[in-house]
Amino acid sequence: MTLAFGAHVSASGGVDKAFARGEEFSMEAIQIFTKSERQWRAKPLDDDVIDAFFRERKRSGIDKIVVHDSYLINLASPKEVLRAKSIDAFKEELTRCETLSIPSLVTHPGAHTGCGVDVGLQNVVESLNRVHDDLPDLKVRTLLETTAGQGTTLGRTFEELATIVDGVEAKERVKVCLDTCHIFAAGYDFRTEDGYAGMMRQFDEIIGLERLQAIHLNDSKNPLASNKDRHDHIGEGEIGREAFRHLVNDARLEGIPALLETDKGDDNQLDGKNLVTLRGMVA
Ligand code: FE
Ligand code: FE
Ligand code: ZN
Repeated sequence: MTLAFGAHVSASGGVDKAFARGEEFSMEAIQIFTKSERQWRAKPLDDDVIDAFFRERKRSGIDKIVVHDSYLINLASPKEVLRAKSIDAFKEELTRCETLSIPSLVTHPGAHTGCGVDVGLQNVVESLNRVHDDLPDLKVRTLLETTAGQGTTLGRTFEELATIVDGVEAKERVKVCLDTCHIFAAGYDFRTEDGYAGMMRQFDEIIGLERLQAIHLNDSKNPLASNKDRHDHIGEGEIGREAFRHLVNDARLEGIPALLETDKGDDNQLDGKNLVTLRGMVA
């Protein structure tokens, strides 16, 4: 018993197409974008595509699905116009997940772009409270992703994510996604058994393990505490194999979607290779 392994897979041609891509490497979980991640606008999901999505989901048996939102969204922005636009786009992302009965939407907390960490975090809290007020009945949960702490991005420490959860009124609607590359780049050293145990203890004390709903499995091209976000193949980067062995054998994480976001190579073959590496580590 271990994590539900998978990867971020392409939804090009329609969100229903993602399942066949996941099946190729026997993925138990997938992550997708439901719209272009580099654009604000999205055309509404067609009824045909929605039907096909549910059919493919059932046929493939891949029932653990996570969506990642657009990279343009910045719920922390001090600029009113950008923040309002971000809130609207985020509501659209949540609504698309709800339409597809997808339980989890991963988002980066955002960047304060100069207004400071405290104000930035407060902006995220206010944005989420607004979203929750405007869309009171959604089942989909927001998963705040841990970040590498590049530039003015928020979410580089567990404390920052906890501060957001604390400020949100509907706390049950906010969960967390842990990205292994990002926490390492942010300074969490979990390469040894003790280091891994300590990192997890901190996560549990500060955020609470019950809030951990997805994991991004990436090694890091850059060293510890570099604050630089570049993913590497499992075991080939600065994090190395041992850390991943602890993670995949941690019984507390059983069944959590654990998704590669590494370079896929030709025909996605490197996803296959990374999944073989990870599954091979399970004791
Ligand atoms: Fe991300
Ligand atoms: Fe990630
Ligand atoms: Zn990253």
